[in-house]
Amino acid sequence: MTPPITVGTATGVPGQIVYGTFDGVAMPTGGTDALPVIIISGKKDGPILWITGSIHGNEYSGLTTIHRLLGPDGADFPLDQLRGTVVMIPTLNPAGLRTETRSPYYNRGSDPNRMFPAPDRSARKTDDEEASVTALERVYERLYERIEAHGDFLVDLHNAVIGSIAFSFRDPIYYDDRFTRADARALQARNDDMIRAFGFPVINEFPSSEYLKKNLHRSVSGSVLNRARRPAFTVELSSYLHVDMAIRDAAVVGLRNVMRWAEMLPGPAEALPPIPFPRVDFPVRRILHPRAPQSGIVTHLVDAGDVIHKGDPVARLTDVYGRPLGADDGLLRTDHDGYVVGRMQGNVYYENEPVLWLAVRDSGDLLLPYPEDY
Ligand SMILES: [Zn+2]
Repeated sequence: MTPPITVGTATGVPGQIVYGTFDGVAMPTGGTDALPVIIISGKKDGPILWITGSIHGNEYSGLTTIHRLLGPDGADFPLDQLRGTVVMIPTLNPAGLRTETRSPYYNRGSDPNRMFPAPDRSARKTDDEEASVTALERVYERLYERIEAHGDFLVDLHNAVIGSIAFSFRDPIYYDDRFTRADARALQARNDDMIRAFGFPVINEFPSSEYLKKNLHRSVSGSVLNRARRPAFTVELSSYLHVDMAIRDAAVVGLRNVMRWAEMLPGPAEALPPIPFPRVDFPVRRILHPRAPQSGIVTHLVDAGDVIHKGDPVARLTDVYGRPLGADDGLLRTDHDGYVVGRMQGNVYYENEPVLWLAVRDSGDLLLPYPEDY
């Protein structure tokens, strides 16, 4: 057997589920904002799968999916059949979870899912950047080291806008002189296989410049995929602030199917319970579109999961009296073929705010040269 895995206070024991904690941000009042750790070890050697959840504190489905996968005291987990190890962190952001906010109060306004280590090891931070590293970034650096040392695959569980469909994100993969385009393509093929095994609709992330500008290469999955170069992806499990239980249950099946794909569990894939599955015959990427041409009240004319075609009216913009604003009777039309991921929340929009989250036709291959200046 390979030596047992230790993450914080938890050390894996073959045939057992071990619970522990990983030191989080040290609290001025004592103790740390510790992350919960669960290590499930099979009796036989095999791969190591990490499942992380709720790095955004008001997204609960990651936490509840992990609980549902385990059942009370792990009663529902097929431990006897497991080869290898599953490491689960039900929340990567306990402060946000307690206060029902996206960011922890000690990093208010900063996105914790942009704080994992950046891919380029050779990039030296400037003195200013080094001086401004947050306590939480240091915690994530330590956790990342555990993932890199003891992790073959990672799935990071999230929620998106209220009423959105559930889906898996496919991140770009970067290559450079040392990790060639052929290496990147091989990693992408393996990552795609894992995403396919999970079974949810698949949406490509923002194109390259946007992805880096938004610091998505420092998201949990972006960092593990592009720095550790292990298959990793983000799942969006519909609404935040609320658990869609049918989607949670589908995610539990998806995770067991990932374990089957990784040969950690025996047997063929389970059928995924029915979830909305927009049918288009081309790859799609995410986009926030269309945008309100002026401030006003938006009535959406489409909903999550609807397939749309270029030129279709998707919303109507009115004034506060309900009178259409602008040309075309206030209609906002889409410039794209694809489908609706979700309606942006509420009906009140300021000029240039996006009114829909769409998945639209994508022709990029998501294999990109890593730019010099990142
Ligand atoms: Zn999230």
